[in-house]
Amino acid sequence: MKLEEYVYYGQKGFNINSFDTKAENLTFDKEMALQIGKLNIEKMEVLQDRLYAQGKEAVLIIMQAMDAGGKDGAIKHVMSGLNPQGVEVKSFKKPSQRELAHDYIWRCAKELPERGKIGIFNRSYYEDVLVGKVHNLYKGQNLPDRCKTDDIFDKRYEQIKNFEKYLWENGTRIIKFFFNISKKEQKRRFMKRIEEKNKNWKLSDSDVKERRYWEDYMKAYEEAINKTSTNYAPWYVVPADKKWFARYFVSEVIVNVLNDIDPRYPVVSEKNKKMIAECKKYLENE
Ligand code: ATP
Ligand code: MG
Repeated sequence: MKLEEYVYYGQKGFNINSFDTKAENLTFDKEMALQIGKLNIEKMEVLQDRLYAQGKEAVLIIMQAMDAGGKDGAIKHVMSGLNPQGVEVKSFKKPSQRELAHDYIWRCAKELPERGKIGIFNRSYYEDVLVGKVHNLYKGQNLPDRCKTDDIFDKRYEQIKNFEKYLWENGTRIIKFFFNISKKEQKRRFMKRIEEKNKNWKLSDSDVKERRYWEDYMKAYEEAINKTSTNYAPWYVVPADKKWFARYFVSEVIVNVLNDIDPRYPVVSEKNKKMIAECKKYLENE
């Protein structure tokens, strides 16, 4: 399996209908993926420590998926290797009245990670070109007529690209994941939520009923990915029918990106070296 196959930088198109959500034809098995995943988590720990110490680059990880797509599990998995001080997870649900009184990026912009930190967005401003597009939510929003035009989503793709370019040019690395599950696998996971008592709380009737719009969502995802894949903010489409594979995949991508950032501990200045030597002497003579 080559990661490159699953990355979209804007050169090749993403076709959701021909995408293999099961990740068939793997050259390794679950056992091996778990092993590599574990090693990746250890590598992440080391790299994050340097990222934090250096405080030079911020990392923004965006997670998007249909319900039961596996975002939560993947986030838990990634978090297991990170120092809580340097990472923040933010979930974006249905916007509140206050949030709706602002532009759609506002609530996300407020939660962006500072340099040295990793921010994980569980859903994001992309919802406004996904669920927002499937249901044309803008029509019911309190916006001037000049904003409610037929090309509103094309404008939003451009706005998102510009926003991400701005972030990139100001020191933020952006990693976008789409956990691509099949409709059949979603049904299997919903059924599990029904059958297993401890999972009942996860089920909502609106999520189940949203399956009626599956094709529209797939089209919206395909278009959003094709219109917002760039060099500076690529989309990674994760074959997500196998949870163990999706988690392995995410850890692999994050380690790759952190390696590419290549964070280093700050060089100790001569002045600080002197101070450290003095501290040593002081403690030894205490
Ligand atoms: P998840 O489904 O991500 O695991 P959850 O089930 O705990 O989380 P929900 O209460 O279902 O969270 O909130 C997510 C819901 O909010 C989704 O149905 C999503 O489409 C919706 N949502 C998020 N952002 C927006 C938005 N900008 N406009 C409309 N709906 C949105
Ligand atoms: Mg939900």
